[in-house]
Amino acid sequence: MWLLIAFLLLLAATAVVVIPFFRTSTHHHPDVSVDPKLLALYNRRDQLYQAIREAKFDLDTGKLSPEDYERQLAHLKRQAASVLRAIDRRQATLATAELDAEVESMVTAARRERAMVHPQPVLVAAAGAAAGNATPSYCPQCGARVQADDRFCPACGTRLKK
Ligand SMILES: [Zn+2]
Repeated sequence: MWLLIAFLLLLAATAVVVIPFFRTSTHHHPDVSVDPKLLALYNRRDQLYQAIREAKFDLDTGKLSPEDYERQLAHLKRQAASVLRAIDRRQATLATAELDAEVESMVTAARRERAMVHPQPVLVAAAGAAAGNATPSYCPQCGARVQADDRFCPACGTRLKK
């Protein structure tokens, strides 16, 4: 008996320690299940479904005439349809946000990977600076990029003064 109580206490203590980790790990992800707007829409939908069930019950017990029931049902169905459309839109928005975040992290990861595989650009630029051609030259006539030892502009043929 005491062993069981000790075990349950240990279990409770473990849960207290472990559960916050799960919470923070899902925190910065746009989690569809905890979106307050979506939850509100789900609540609204459930209320409307409940109202539809109640209307049917009122019809069956004679509290509502068939005409009143039909009118009420049509009204509730219109509202439910608009809530369902709003749920679809909200889900699409959240999915897009989640996809954007995913693509963003994929791009960041790919960039980091490429930086590790090809660390040369910095070295190449440094070598260029050391060789003395760090400042690019441009054609005074057309503005095209020219090499330091070009005598004529490769784009427009203007003679380059040295
Ligand atoms: Zn030129």
